[in-house]
Amino acid sequence: MSAATHQEPSFRDSVDMMFTRAASLMDLPPGMEEKIRVANSTYTVRFGVKLRGEIKTFTGYRSVHSEHAEPVKGGIRYSLDVNQNEVEALAALMTYKCALVEVPFGGSKGGLCIDPFEWEEDELERITRRFAYELIKRDLIHPAQNVPAPDMGTGAREMAWIADAYKRIKSDDINARACVTGKPRHLGGIAGRVEATGRGVEYALQEFFRHPEDVAKSGLSGTLDGKRVVVQGLGNVGYHAAKFLEEEDGCKIVGIIERDGAIVSAEGLNVEAVKNHVMENGGVKGFPGAQFTEDGKSILEHDCDILIPAAMESTINLGNAERIKAALIIEAANGPVTAGADEILRKKGCVIIPDMYANAGGVTVSYFEWVKNLSHIRFGRMQRRQQEAANNLLVDEIEALTGKTFSPGKRDKMLQGADELSLVRSGLDDTMRISYQSMAEIWHSRESEGVDLRTAAFLISIQRVAETYKSLGL
Ligand code: NAD
Repeated sequence: MSAATHQEPSFRDSVDMMFTRAASLMDLPPGMEEKIRVANSTYTVRFGVKLRGEIKTFTGYRSVHSEHAEPVKGGIRYSLDVNQNEVEALAALMTYKCALVEVPFGGSKGGLCIDPFEWEEDELERITRRFAYELIKRDLIHPAQNVPAPDMGTGAREMAWIADAYKRIKSDDINARACVTGKPRHLGGIAGRVEATGRGVEYALQEFFRHPEDVAKSGLSGTLDGKRVVVQGLGNVGYHAAKFLEEEDGCKIVGIIERDGAIVSAEGLNVEAVKNHVMENGGVKGFPGAQFTEDGKSILEHDCDILIPAAMESTINLGNAERIKAALIIEAANGPVTAGADEILRKKGCVIIPDMYANAGGVTVSYFEWVKNLSHIRFGRMQRRQQEAANNLLVDEIEALTGKTFSPGKRDKMLQGADELSLVRSGLDDTMRISYQSMAEIWHSRESEGVDLRTAAFLISIQRVAETYKSLGL
């Protein structure tokens, strides 16, 4: 049965319902709940671009949810499903996400109603530059006020066009590069940004499995090694998450769901090989050695330990929640579980690691990129060789004092100074660990009030935003 027949709330209503559930457990000053919940503003733009011999009109949005911290931050999505409600829900999630992982930004989100696959690269560039111009002239792209990043349907390429459009209009802004994150490395991007959201999903799972009492609540046990995983969406987030879990944590990827259907294999799928197959064939169909089904969504209900929805919102809803078998769901996408489904799954004992934490790796590394752009220097550039020299001295001294030598592999590792990528991964890992621990603490202490990980995440972020508003005198 479809979600619609079950009177599913809209994505935005779903986010609001989850927010309200947490806020009802708090003692907020009068009016504060409403102030935090609503989007401050949403700008709609309709612009024309001359393409294929005619003027094509496009509709785009940039919503600012909360300016309690500035700049505000949030991706730009390219999809035909983009609409005001969706953009506002995503902007709200950005506010809560940034507050939860202590990234000093308010929440924003943008979207362009377009099917990016319908257009050639040069056409997309013209459309993107025109959209960027409309946002730049209203300071809705600005290093100090509003900093977009990639989201569904966009990536480093689009961010490069946006950065260049900004630089052309504001050529005297020395911080121009900080107007957008997720840029290619050679244009001011940072090592590890492309993989960041998927990497964050991996770090989140690693941290979860460091807490056996939490793992037990899901009905699972042990470590990540050997866990059976189903992933929906093999795009930026899903591909990196699945790849790292398979290659570095010993997980078995038993199902991959894409637009054209899904493939399953009890022995486990090679994520890199599936990705190459999707790039060459436009979908998972025909991947050798796996079973294909055109009804991709049915594989959300496949027998597995961990389900990773990494495609879009509302895929786990009132229509299928009861049949989901995964013990643990980690929301790599934004809003993949509706409020109604969340309730059903909680009753079933399924543990959900919520989106505002699970996919915060992207905005965390975007924050590092923004800081790098403002400081105009690559992380590690000053310290790396000095650190290596100090390490060398120490290792030489230990060897001289003990009369023993380290194996060459170990010696090399000990000598290494930190480069940008290792610093970014370290900062991301730290963020994911600390944020999980703060959520888990509230989860454990208030479980009797019905607090789960999602509610705990909301409680922390609402509290942090409320404190800022209180200090500002609002
Ligand atoms: P993407 O466009 O790179 O990938 C999305 C993937 O999902 C594509 O491979 C697409 O083919 C697939 N897909 C689309 N519709 C599908 C369907 N009905 N069934 C199965 N697969 C489908 O997008 P992304 O950047 O990976 O974003 C995915 C989700 O993660 C979104 O919810 C986004 O908001 C969220 N997110 C992304 C980032 C980021 O850094 N990119 C950060 C935080 C959250």
